[in-house]
Amino acid sequence: MSRGDCVQPGSTIGVLGGGQLGRMMALAGSSLGYRFVTLDPTKDSPCGQVAEQIVAGYADKEAARELAAKADVITYEFENVDAEVAALLEELSQVPQGSKLLHTTQHRLREKRAIEAADVKVAPYAEIRSEEELRQAAERLGLPSVLKTATGGYDGKGQWVIRSREEIPEAYAALSAGGAELVLEQFIAFDKELSVIAARSPRGEIKTFPVAENIHVDNILHASIVPARVPAPVQAEAEKLAAAIAESMGAVGLLAVELFLTRDGELYVNELAPRPHNSGHYTMEACTTSQFEQHVRAVCNLPLGEVRLLSPVVMVNVLGEHLEEVVQRVVSGIWQSSGEQSKAIVPKVHLYGKSGSAPKRKMGHINLLCEQVQDGLDWIEQTKIWRNQQG
Ligand code: AMP
Repeated sequence: MSRGDCVQPGSTIGVLGGGQLGRMMALAGSSLGYRFVTLDPTKDSPCGQVAEQIVAGYADKEAARELAAKADVITYEFENVDAEVAALLEELSQVPQGSKLLHTTQHRLREKRAIEAADVKVAPYAEIRSEEELRQAAERLGLPSVLKTATGGYDGKGQWVIRSREEIPEAYAALSAGGAELVLEQFIAFDKELSVIAARSPRGEIKTFPVAENIHVDNILHASIVPARVPAPVQAEAEKLAAAIAESMGAVGLLAVELFLTRDGELYVNELAPRPHNSGHYTMEACTTSQFEQHVRAVCNLPLGEVRLLSPVVMVNVLGEHLEEVVQRVVSGIWQSSGEQSKAIVPKVHLYGKSGSAPKRKMGHINLLCEQVQDGLDWIEQTKIWRNQQG
């Protein structure tokens, strides 16, 4: 796609991965008149329920060829795309996001170097190639420190918080099994976890969504609060950093930037994701353009949409253990036990249509538009659905 050209509404967008992110992308893009085809190994995937689906493995080159033949432009909804498939798709079709951004964000060390190249801070870190290097790095960075695998980790998997020197051999043995590359990061005693989603189009336009304050439980996102309860200059700085990273990396599409905010106001980037992000689901009802529409606009090189926040909002995730109760309340229309529903909040429920529910599996989310974010947080508590999940 040359500068200025765009993929017109009516064209077909191919999505590698058929999960909830692809589904919400397809729903948003359909409103703009695009068609969608997804490639996913699981029949009747969340995205496949609202788009055409090619049922095949992500590394299946024949299936990738079929996707390329059917689509005018290709995007992905997860970052661990096989490098050879990414290269093949680039050769056969248009992949405006390219494979460079994927290559960088698939590996924590490459990612950290790219963030530093944008003049943005990450937690002090060291590459670890042996137990001895881990010992020396732990000495230098101090304990506690967080040992992470360079690739493949998510939702806290592939990491170990090392609190004492005695833990070093066990932590090293556990994470280096199978020859995984490792990185040690200084433990940041953060006050809050924030995220900013930036969008950049091939024509170079950049927009950032309002900062989200994220509450994790057991390393899984529980809730996002917007506006984040941090001073306005911190919000402005976080948005500026995200835009700087997107610009410096020449990103196309969405780039989610997760940050730690310390008590003394320092911001460190934790990690990046080159795709729609769970902490951006609040945009679906609370912003003038959702992250999914913005991603479609960016990869198709349309003008980016305005990203104004329409209302304070709290997004809460529906995991497998919450699904049954949520469905019951959707069916009954009654969310609170009597007398407790003091504030008028309309829960906007999004369920992903996944066939197998399991504990900790993301099955949906709810956006709570409210007058002030505390009302949304109170609503979550009063439903008692998330009673075992105090962030
Ligand atoms: P990650 O998989 O890198 O997003 O890490 C998962 C969670 O672990 C983060 O959301 C943080 O709560 C925590 N964490 C990761 N790295 C650090 C760090 N360097 N210092 C403190 N907490 C961390």
